[in-house]
Amino acid sequence: MMWIQLEPGADASEVRAQLQALGQWTTKLTGTDGTVGFQVAPHSQPIPKGRILAIEGVTDVASANSPHPLVDQQAKGQVVVSGRHFGGDRPILMAGPCSVESEAQIHQSAAMVAAAGASFLRGGAFKPRTSPYAYRGAGPEGLVWMRQAADAHGLGVITEVMSERDVELVARYADIMQIGSRNMQNYALLDAVGRAGMPVMLKRGMHGYVEEWLLAGEHLMHAGAKAVIFCERGIRSFDNVARNTLDLTAVALLKHVHGQVVIADPSHAAGRVDLIPALSRAALAAGADGLILEAHPNPAQARSDGPQSLVGHQLQSIARDMGLPPVHSEAHARL
Ligand code: PEP
Ligand code: MN
Repeated sequence: MMWIQLEPGADASEVRAQLQALGQWTTKLTGTDGTVGFQVAPHSQPIPKGRILAIEGVTDVASANSPHPLVDQQAKGQVVVSGRHFGGDRPILMAGPCSVESEAQIHQSAAMVAAAGASFLRGGAFKPRTSPYAYRGAGPEGLVWMRQAADAHGLGVITEVMSERDVELVARYADIMQIGSRNMQNYALLDAVGRAGMPVMLKRGMHGYVEEWLLAGEHLMHAGAKAVIFCERGIRSFDNVARNTLDLTAVALLKHVHGQVVIADPSHAAGRVDLIPALSRAALAAGADGLILEAHPNPAQARSDGPQSLVGHQLQSIARDMGLPPVHSEAHARL
């Protein structure tokens, strides 16, 4: 990837025309300080740097070896959302039901999740479902209930946005927007979500290469996302004994090689409650900065993903394993 820096006051369209004549396909970039430059697309003609430097108005040409320079720039940093530090000393716990189903259900979930020491309430008001006949979430009303429930218990909100059409609406209620596994490579959605300028949790496609995942993160950052949090949620491998295979190699790679903030989702990986405590410990050992877990006040009646939904005491036990401080309160003691 190549970057071309222009001197202040240079005629950008003239420079671009000359670059085009040399077979260079460019995207204009304007820095926050007003400086103008061009990013050269990888399919441009290979030419010596000197030919570009010779164009009037060009001050510098830099090559970046990485195809995801913006993601690389946030490496080894922390992501802070509503005062909660991802990538800090303590792992982050995000928990809640698969779907936001009713006002009562999300309020009970928020109480349960807060009692365990989680800092974010998860739950989908818009659900991607394999069958068109399956429950698809409560929709816009669900976002309102979710925000109120989270606020009542001092939690942040993370929720999925499935469509470009809903980005503005979801941005109003969420602290972190979630891109689901099925949408990791929906570039129109990534652009729209990025433009909202918020922190985004990007779930790995169930058949996504790590490099494709990082590049999807680059799409978000390029469009303006404030930060990208990567989430490993299990991939499809040759064995279907569990719902998916939690790829701990990817967790370790994202954390220790790429320096990214990475969250693990053992719930969607396992598809069953009994494996979740062990996978949670393993993900943290591999370097995950936190966990996102499905939990429901009454899993048997959950309208989606009941078999992988934890109840209060199971969530609390995982939170203790994570080293999160116990939460004491009258209301919480009853859960
Ligand atoms: C979810 O988090 O509820 C969800 C739909 O997960 P995924 O996109 O990982 O399947
Ligand atoms: Mn789910």
